Amino acid sequence: MATSKVLAGAQVVLPTGTVPNGRVIVSDTGRIAGSAPADAEAIETIDLTGHWLVPGFVDIHNHGGGGASFTSGTAEDILQGVQTHRLHGTTTVVASTVTDDMDALAQRAGLLSELAEQGDIAGVHFEGPFISPCRKGAHSEALLRHPDPAEVRKLIDAARGHARMVTLAAELPGGIDSVRLLAEHGVIAAIGHTDATYEQTKAAIDAGATVATHLYNAMPGLGHRAPGPIAALLEDERITVELINDGTHLHPAAFELAFHHAGAGRVALITDAMDAAGFGDGTYLLGPLEVEVKEGVARLTEGGSIAGSTLTMDRAFKRSVTVDKLPVEDVVAAISANPAKLLGQYDRVGSLESGKDADIVVLDAEFTLKGVLRKGDWVIEP
Ligand SMILES: [Zn+2]
Repeated sequence: MATSKVLAGAQVVLPTGTVPNGRVIVSDTGRIAGSAPADAEAIETIDLTGHWLVPGFVDIHNHGGGGASFTSGTAEDILQGVQTHRLHGTTTVVASTVTDDMDALAQRAGLLSELAEQGDIAGVHFEGPFISPCRKGAHSEALLRHPDPAEVRKLIDAARGHARMVTLAAELPGGIDSVRLLAEHGVIAAIGHTDATYEQTKAAIDAGATVATHLYNAMPGLGHRAPGPIAALLEDERITVELINDGTHLHPAAFELAFHHAGAGRVALITDAMDAAGFGDGTYLLGPLEVEVKEGVARLTEGGSIAGSTLTMDRAFKRSVTVDKLPVEDVVAAISANPAKLLGQYDRVGSLESGKDADIVVLDAEFTLKGVLRKGDWVIEP
């Protein structure tokens, strides 16, 4: 069981703004408490002067890490990946699959749902197989299929209440009906790996899509006569845009343009990480495809398509503040609050408010991660 503690002296980032020299009280139940318990002797005070306290990071698009894969590993492998990302501040993670045959995906969903049941992951994101062959990225072309509401339904059922998101190309036959089905079942319909026009993307949003899967990546570029999905997704208040801020997937100018246009309330920073995140260069598998990781950049061995990232959320945070010069409060919204709201878990995680899980990241003055608290227990002690 967690012990009661007071984290004192840091700049504490709250939804209402940053409190200098603030303090956060953590109860022995692992929650953030409004006031200190009466028995003052039982409380440990930790002086964090010169540090920042921000809510634990929430990653809604992540395929693995620490040498382990959410897409093909055993339960033990998955937990190893989860633990690796916790060491980098991600206290809530949705496990993402990649395109595979339907039976394999259903089986994977079953395994992932058990881990979601235990609270180790926050659910399942199916990325593919209902995506466009024109924008397949690191997905196996032979296994792609048109979105069929009956098959989408099979995947939702296989995840036993833990399907959180499905990325699909809504311009394909059956796409709009599938978006509708997802919205009806409370599963996020995410537009991605798509070759849609501006108009087709707008139709998908009207049908209930609410997320742009890694905006810019695996979709047509922004053209002045053919604005395509990017303009449709960026301009619509109903859409939250995922952005991979690793300096490889997006030019800083493209990242900043999207962030400023959508506004801090409509961005979710993600890693799209694969096994090599928090591990190292080498040869890996992403689903059925071989991936070569060199100097931290993951590419398909065949064809050289970019194949996920080796990003961790602490690096995305630091980069957004120090390279892109975004206000810390805006980065906290994009990396914790917005994704927590998308998952319907903002009552439990995503901000440092009393009653929520004590999921807290400690950063030093240079925004380097120094500590991670999850449900009141140290993952890394500062
Ligand atoms: Zn992905």
